Amino acid sequence: MAMVNMVCIGDELLDGRTREGNGFWLGGWLRRAGHRLGSVTLVADDRANIVAALRRATSGAALVVVSGGLGPTLDDITRDAIADLLGDELRADAGSEERLRAKFGRFGRPMPDNNLRQTLFPASSRVVPNPVGTADCFVATFEGIPLLVLPGVPYEFETVAKLELPELLPAAAPRRFITRRTAGIGESDLARRMEAVPCPDGLHVTWCASHPYVEVEISAAATDDEALTAYASAALAPLAPWLLPVDAEGAALSAAAAVLAALRQKGLRIATAESCTGGGIAKELTEIAGSSDGFACGVVTYSNRSKSELLGVPAALIKAEGAVSSAVASAMAEGARARLGAEVAVAVTGVAGPGGGSEAKPVGTVYVAVSVAASGWVMKLSLGRSRSRRQIRETSTVAALRLVERLLAGRPEELEHFGGVASLRCYRSGTFR
Ligand code: ATP
Ligand code: MG
Repeated sequence: MAMVNMVCIGDELLDGRTREGNGFWLGGWLRRAGHRLGSVTLVADDRANIVAALRRATSGAALVVVSGGLGPTLDDITRDAIADLLGDELRADAGSEERLRAKFGRFGRPMPDNNLRQTLFPASSRVVPNPVGTADCFVATFEGIPLLVLPGVPYEFETVAKLELPELLPAAAPRRFITRRTAGIGESDLARRMEAVPCPDGLHVTWCASHPYVEVEISAAATDDEALTAYASAALAPLAPWLLPVDAEGAALSAAAAVLAALRQKGLRIATAESCTGGGIAKELTEIAGSSDGFACGVVTYSNRSKSELLGVPAALIKAEGAVSSAVASAMAEGARARLGAEVAVAVTGVAGPGGGSEAKPVGTVYVAVSVAASGWVMKLSLGRSRSRRQIRETSTVAALRLVERLLAGRPEELEHFGGVASLRCYRSGTFR
């Protein structure tokens, strides 16, 4: 296992304009490759400070990855700082200039002179072509430690990093990972339910909450594959009601991807009718490439009038039961399925807060209904006082997607265990168990 340190350069990372993300990505890549990211240092665009940070980062590291400051503008001084560190001069690279002129040629515009700065590299470094951007990258060596110098733009950073890292790192003992995603259960509850099965030596389990999911990762040396598989299937079994399905490669799906996979498999399409989630369910579903296979139509019916006019929910029902009610949620789902050209419909109505709650329907009261040909189910969520408006909307979105997917899998009753679900019942055909 090699230790890698990182230096991210740019004023915008330190003054509240850009959230550092390349270190997050690099840490994940290294972990999966069996290595470790030891530190990430953020440095402003100041030549002396960059040199000092680079010097510190090389201490104890097998590799230093540098991100940002390779652009053509005067505040992009990474190349100058590294030349200072190495005691090198900057030298023009003819191959890099040729590639840059060809890129501008393809854009159909002349190359501004200041872009030539991007073709200067510390004399002793090795130039690394950038297939997805204008700034070529380079590898320098300081006191025997390689420095991989990459652009800050995340897509360019990741593309070139993936190409170069395997060359620069020693081969690590291969590890196998089983990563599963859960929804509707807290991290500590999850960990406690897994404790019943003892974790064999050499296996490593971690839990990571990334709202609205909690991920479980079980890993072992590739040579312990059998023990890993056996432990994972035993330890994950009690989590069945909360586990999201995996794809053909074993990668955990998001709640929306799981719904689309189920719809595709059955040749069905879904319509969404949303109030308090404001289109969040439609957004999650349509974010996935190829979603038109399974997604027919989505409406955001915020006003009572739109619930009646677009979905056919009787005004009298809204008046009698209130817009946030089990009866209105199920009428929305039935109306959406009948009117929006889909075999499956999901509807949500609730109080996302922070205002608008009442004693009978406090903030966090949300009704979700799902209608398919055979049956209709409605659940009430009581998401409580401590969640923010955003968390209430996100949790409702995931709960609704889970109900759709579990209903298509023939196990809607599993949603009873989803955190925040206060009641769950079948309102049309089938029986509530
Ligand atoms: P460019 O040719 O675009 O100038 P560059 O190598 O000089 O490339 P920067 O100017 O440092 O890169 O950053 C380009 C963009 O990438 C900026 O929008 C910046 O906010 C973003 N960025 C830079 N570093 C990071 C980082 N560590 N994490 C996330 N985004 C970053
Ligand atoms: Mg820049």
